Amino acid sequence: MPQSFDFPKQTQQENKNHMIHWSIQAEYCKGCGLCVDACPKQILRIDPDTINQKGHSPAQITNASRCTGCGFCALMCPDCAITIVK
Ligand code: SF4
Ligand code: SF4
Repeated sequence: MPQSFDFPKQTQQENKNHMIHWSIQAEYCKGCGLCVDACPKQILRIDPDTINQKGHSPAQITNASRCTGCGFCALMCPDCAITIVK
């Protein structure tokens, strides 16, 4: 059973090769999976071990070093939960 816990306000991972910062406001996420389906690198997933305060499992990045910063995930998110800074 996934555990509920307090998130840090923002979770960030950095792609040092491309200087891309991918971050998610996990509390905004409703776990719809649209970003997961949109990612051409298939490096996003719904974290089965986490539940946010709204009761949703949020998206997470699994391999930030492969992120190209294309922004498709952020574009698809209906809740503007993902931010990418290059
Ligand atoms: S910016 Fe592009 S490559 Fe990076 S996680 Fe989002 S969809 Fe995937
Ligand atoms: S598209 Fe947005 S709300 Fe849906 S799983 Fe991804 S980050 Fe969460």
